[in-house]
Amino acid sequence: MGWGMNKVEPQDLRVMIIGAHPDDPDITGGGLALNFVKVGATVKLVSMCNGDKGHMSMSPEALAARRYQEAQRSKAILGVDEYRVLNHHDCELEVTLEMRKEVTRLIRGFAPHLVITHRTCDYHADHRAVGTLVMDSAYLLGVPLWCPETPIPSVKPAIYFLRDSFRKPSELRPDVILRIDDVMEQLIEALCSHESQFFEWLVFDKGLGAELPPPDDREGRKAFIMKHWMVPRKSYDAQRFRARLVEVYGKAEAERIRYAEAYELSEYGYQPTPEEQSWLFPFLPADAFGR
Ligand SMILES: [Zn+2]
Repeated sequence: MGWGMNKVEPQDLRVMIIGAHPDDPDITGGGLALNFVKVGATVKLVSMCNGDKGHMSMSPEALAARRYQEAQRSKAILGVDEYRVLNHHDCELEVTLEMRKEVTRLIRGFAPHLVITHRTCDYHADHRAVGTLVMDSAYLLGVPLWCPETPIPSVKPAIYFLRDSFRKPSELRPDVILRIDDVMEQLIEALCSHESQFFEWLVFDKGLGAELPPPDDREGRKAFIMKHWMVPRKSYDAQRFRARLVEVYGKAEAERIRYAEAYELSEYGYQPTPEEQSWLFPFLPADAFGR
């Protein structure tokens, strides 16, 4: 029997979402994280960069400190176990030997069943670097003489990709899709923690200043996040992957789903069978992956 994984109960699952910036794991994978939290799994979000570039007026140092605090507020609202923010500078993440070792140690140290990260065709160089570093580590995780000071855990993780909208070289394949309608409110609440992003930098970046509700209009600000970030992702994915939703939830239920998150299984890392995927994602219908 080679290196793989044995069935565990939902509360023993370990899930690691590795993003580039302090808001990527939750904006893209927050619905999934909330579903894992609900079943009692251990969920760790990681930002490889410290968020020190995305602002139009703050200093990098002050911005990094602020974004760390925002990530911790989001962590508390999501109820995940940890929101780790590593200290690499934004826009400077590179695929180097040192970084490959760091990512190997990061994953081995947590011993996850699932690692979820960016695709290597994503738009931001930091996102691509994170995706590539996880891909580069996927096989090396099980090589004993590679980073021997950090032992190989008993579980070989399956790796899934976070969604994006890019079509070259290929559109995301929705191997895993889940309805997130029932956690949208909580997710948006968590995303409101990232004030320097959703209410400052991205507003500036996208030229949305005229639409931004004032700070005391909490409901308005939640609606603002819904319109500009959730609808283009979660509603768009529910639409474009409706056929997959029908396979997973059945036609009648699938037609009622408004918000969805989709994930693609990487060909690197552990390749779970349909049966294994059904206990890896215990909140999905039992036959979501076929029989
Ligand atoms: Zn990012």
